Amino acid sequence: MRAAILAVGSELLGTDRLDTNSLTLAAVLERHGVELATKAVVGDSEAAIAGELSRLLALVELVLVTGGLGPTADDVTRAAAARALGRPVREAPEVLAGIREKFAAHGMRMPEVNRRQAEVVEGAELIDNLRGTAPGMRLEADGSTLFLFPGVPAELAAMIDSDLEPWLAARSSGAGRERGFLKVAGLPESMVEERIAPAYDELGREAISVLAKPGEILLQFWAHGDRDARRERLAAIKSRLAELVGPAVFTDDPETDLAAVVGGLLRERGRTLATAESCTGGWLGERITAVPGSSDYYPGGVVVYSNRLKESLLGVPAELLAEHGAVSEAVARAMAGAVRRRLGADYGLAITGVAGPGGGSDEKPVGTVHLALAGPVEAGAKERVAHRRVRFPGDRERVRWLSTQLALEMLRRELLAGPAETGRGEEDAGAAAAPSVREAPVAAGGGGR
Ligand code: ATP
Ligand code: MG
Repeated sequence: MRAAILAVGSELLGTDRLDTNSLTLAAVLERHGVELATKAVVGDSEAAIAGELSRLLALVELVLVTGGLGPTADDVTRAAAARALGRPVREAPEVLAGIREKFAAHGMRMPEVNRRQAEVVEGAELIDNLRGTAPGMRLEADGSTLFLFPGVPAELAAMIDSDLEPWLAARSSGAGRERGFLKVAGLPESMVEERIAPAYDELGREAISVLAKPGEILLQFWAHGDRDARRERLAAIKSRLAELVGPAVFTDDPETDLAAVVGGLLRERGRTLATAESCTGGWLGERITAVPGSSDYYPGGVVVYSNRLKESLLGVPAELLAEHGAVSEAVARAMAGAVRRRLGADYGLAITGVAGPGGGSDEKPVGTVHLALAGPVEAGAKERVAHRRVRFPGDRERVRWLSTQLALEMLRRELLAGPAETGRGEEDAGAAAAPSVREAPVAAGGGGR
């Protein structure tokens, strides 16, 4: 079976709306092993929709349409389908009654315009709309099947579950294609490519793809076959790739942010984190708090953009700022230690850098960022502070993003290593007992883990 998707909506031809419904539908087709032959977008014009429908119905066995089932004058998919199939539309009393009931359930009278949504193309099987008013439709025509779905993504999703999935499952062999993912942080694309090279030979080059974005790489892989066989193969590919890439892999869920993974580790270990941000202006805190439940491990942070606030809020010594400058290892270390202690957290994470486009110098070019991670302090032990100096390429946005990404990755690696390995190879900076950052000795050199 081959399929086509048609997205209806003039807004989808404009400059600010993307047709995401077709991606949702393409994923369903992929799962069921149905080849997607083509997809199209048309505006809310009856003639345009009817023309596309005629073309697609002649081309493939399954046409999936979203949009244009609403109550307004621009919702003409029903009429267009009727025209393409050469059939009449009729108002269906039971559908009309159902729509009236939905309004009544909310204590509202049905506006007359909603009558349109009770119009049904002759011969259509109706699909209940659990999240809205307009029913969907399934139509058979000359050996092809046509589904009409609402454009509202949530309404479409409900109908996929209730009708399209079962319909496809009954017709497809069960042999589909499925995707798996791994997300990698802290490694450049070329290095990931180098590490996974053996997998290309073992598993096939076309089974794996590498998608890079700044500071993060998404490995995608596919498996074919029936459900059990492809799940098994996906698991095998995943574990092989994870083994080859190593601990830089942080999740197998494409939607999961690094901040969520770090948060999960903090919660697991019973640790808390405070942040001190200069050039990122709170972006790190934003990423951390975007994760539901982050209050379990994140008391908060400070944005200390000026030297004055680095001094007054964190107690970074004026002499340190004067001697080394705000963008320096010494200041990053002092910020991390101070925010850890002053906010009463196990870890303190600090970022100070030159995000650009201005403000760079020969010694500290644009993109220079110092990151420091302080803590945790075990009873009777000294406070450890790890530090990294990096020079990120790119514009202001990118330097700032990469800074938050590396900060999170430093902490993730620290949490993975566990307390025994904490700060290994790093210089100690300040005694646990030291209440003031002024006592923190400043390690020289560009350490790093
Ligand atoms: P319905 O048939 O559910 O009434 P419609 O197209 O008639 O859909 P609209 O008011 O045009 O209703 O769209 C409802 C919402 O759904 C809008 O926010 C619209 O942008 C969104 N939408 C419509 N089509 C798509 C699509 N292909 N992908 C993503 N969003 C879509
Ligand atoms: Mg529309």
